[in-house]
Amino acid sequence: MATETDHTNPAVDGSELIRFDQVTKRFGSNTVLDNLDFSVSSGKHVTLIGPSGSGKTTILRLLMTLLRPDEGTIKVDGDYLTHEDKGGALVPAGEKHTREVRKKIGMVFQQFNLFPNMRVLRNITEAPVHVLGLSKDEAETRARELLDLVGLGDKCDAYPTQLSGGQQQRVAIARALAMRPQVMLLDEVTSALDPELVAGVLDVLRDIAHTTDITMLCVTHEMNFARDISDDVLMFDAGRVIESGPPEKIFTEPEHERTREFLSAVL
Ligand code: ADP
Repeated sequence: MATETDHTNPAVDGSELIRFDQVTKRFGSNTVLDNLDFSVSSGKHVTLIGPSGSGKTTILRLLMTLLRPDEGTIKVDGDYLTHEDKGGALVPAGEKHTREVRKKIGMVFQQFNLFPNMRVLRNITEAPVHVLGLSKDEAETRARELLDLVGLGDKCDAYPTQLSGGQQQRVAIARALAMRPQVMLLDEVTSALDPELVAGVLDVLRDIAHTTDITMLCVTHEMNFARDISDDVLMFDAGRVIESGPPEKIFTEPEHERTREFLSAVL
């Protein structure tokens, strides 16, 4: 029988799990991330806030290697993500290296991206069987536990279209956790949902944040949620972190005028 620790990060020791070093990302003449440095320690929940277009989603896309940095390096759990260290020289990483490092990262998107032709259980077991090499039985046992965790233990046999958006997003969360990632990236996971479905998804994420040790990096406009789950909040403006700190500080006594303006517009 699985225990709570099955959902947790195997290496929660406060070590640095994500590190951006002088990362610059441009689209044409638009510098979206500007010499960005930041890190996330294992087991922490870090939320990225800031105006639309300030570069938050680009950070998650860089971590998923959907984008490559123009300058700088990204490390995940001590390994370079897009580079390989060959005898002290950094060279662009091969596909195999990048795939191995990326296995440590799970992502939940705005659009749930479930496989429409597969039942819920198989949506969750597909990658653990084919990528991690779990047996079908092991993967199904784990998938059922995760569906219980997200409150959908009775939906194993449903197809995604038979579920509400909120339920589909909870399946997507279970699917990400099934790969036992060390860090979960959450990209505005409630912004495509009808308002009445938002709370259920946020409750599941709160529960995961409070009862497991998984590291989380979230982009969200849900400020109450950010306040509840975050150890640290990073305020972005024009591709830079202009202010960071624990939520009690950022939300109640922000130092930067841009942070005050942003919060008064969204709170
Ligand atoms: P945020 O998540 O803070 O709203 P994004 O990271 O999505 O910001 O976008 C930052 C900037 O990068 C925006 O100006 C956006 O238009 C631009 N951008 C994002 N993706 C692309 C792309 N694939 N091609 C060109 N510009 C892009």
